[in-house]
Amino acid sequence: MALHIATPLLPSNAFDPGPGQQVWLKMEALQPSGSFKLRGIGHACEVYAARGAGRIVASSGGNAGLAAAHAARRLGLPALVVVPQTTSGRARALLAREGAQVCVHGISFQEANAYAQSLLGPQDAFIHPFDDPLLWEGHAGMIDEVADAGLRPDAVVLSVGGGGLLSGVVAGLRRQGWNDLPVFAVETAGADSYAQSLAAGERIELPAINSIATSLGARKVSEHAFALARTHPITPVVVTDGEAVAACLRFMDEHRVVVEPACGAALALAWRPGGPLAAFDKVLVIVCGGATATVAQLQAWGAQLNVQSANRMSETRS
Ligand SMILES: *Cc1c(COP(=O)(O)O)cnc(C)c1O
Repeated sequence: MALHIATPLLPSNAFDPGPGQQVWLKMEALQPSGSFKLRGIGHACEVYAARGAGRIVASSGGNAGLAAAHAARRLGLPALVVVPQTTSGRARALLAREGAQVCVHGISFQEANAYAQSLLGPQDAFIHPFDDPLLWEGHAGMIDEVADAGLRPDAVVLSVGGGGLLSGVVAGLRRQGWNDLPVFAVETAGADSYAQSLAAGERIELPAINSIATSLGARKVSEHAFALARTHPITPVVVTDGEAVAACLRFMDEHRVVVEPACGAALALAWRPGGPLAAFDKVLVIVCGGATATVAQLQAWGAQLNVQSANRMSETRS
């Protein structure tokens, strides 16, 4: 049995659609580990377990680590997750709750990652958060589910960090023969390594991540995700942290589900008045989720970033 669940595909009327327009939400936020990552990482862990892996090792204090820990527990394998000191107490507690051994090392992801690599023994399977074809294969299943539900969207909106979700979704679209279906790949300013790379015509490395959407914080996107833009209609879009947080708060009001700003980025594009989505009748938004933000944290960011309450339904329509 797969480690992920088939998620709901919800028609939403919360997006001020144009005439004849319908927004559909693929609710990956409801995966048992809290994000879409369980699809790809669950699949990869199953393959590695079948090949004889005795332990799962990851170096993400975010949703990739949570998915790896969840998958390992379900497969009866021990998990080791190395995280940097910056990882929140909440994230560490969530990892521990999944039964993972949590090792805190280094001041940044780079150091935690290097240390995790140095610990790898012959029986260990290392889980990369986005750059592994097994992950893309697993992520692609969400598009199979959309097709099985009878929906053929006109455009797809998703968030992009290192590009694993993007790679999986495009693989899924191609599997359906939807080779020319436009994809909008959304990032926050300060974590916009994809948009900057496409603009430069080569993969660039951000010197640092300057966004609260830490789950989008890959300093360099994968070669595969970068190259996909040459063969598939992919439009990069950059939103602000404020827009992403406003979208999270609004989504909470509208759909009663908490997601990270990383996911709010995609939602923010769907809420942009007169944005590029207006040209499409059936818009599929991947609600990628994320388990590391709390309601209180989202509200604090909203206050800090001076998010306009007018963005929120309760104020605009009451
Ligand atoms: C990992 C993650 C992303 C970005 O996915 P990539 O595969 O790195 O592009 C977006 N949102 C959430 C919630 C994530 O956990």
